[in-house]
Amino acid sequence: MTRPQPLTGRDNAYYWEGVAKGSVLIQKCTVCGSLRHPPSPMCPDCQSLDWTTVSATGRAVLHSYTVCHHPLPPWEEGPYAVVLIDLEVEDSDEHPRIVCGTRGISSEELRIEMPLRLVFEDGLVFAGPEADS
Ligand SMILES: [Zn+2]
Repeated sequence: MTRPQPLTGRDNAYYWEGVAKGSVLIQKCTVCGSLRHPPSPMCPDCQSLDWTTVSATGRAVLHSYTVCHHPLPPWEEGPYAVVLIDLEVEDSDEHPRIVCGTRGISSEELRIEMPLRLVFEDGLVFAGPEADS
């Protein structure tokens, strides 16, 4: 069985199109400038319907995680981690969060507040170990 692909609609198509091209795009209100994620049609701060996107830089910090042992979906080898990461975003001090899986790092290696980087694979985004600089 193959991994199910994300369901896309008018509100989140920009996000998955960005991921397919290797970037995470975050909604930015064009009226008050606040960032928001997950995708939504209206700014929760000022109720504007006007928005644009800004790009995550690819750097992130581990905010929290869980390790799934059972039941495992057929496309995962387990146990596997699901992580909540704080994204670094271009030209912003805000750190919107996304939930994703991991690549290239074991559950035992995960530590809260550790630096991670975004990894793009099969039209999805994952968190991996920080790149050597
Ligand atoms: Zn706003």
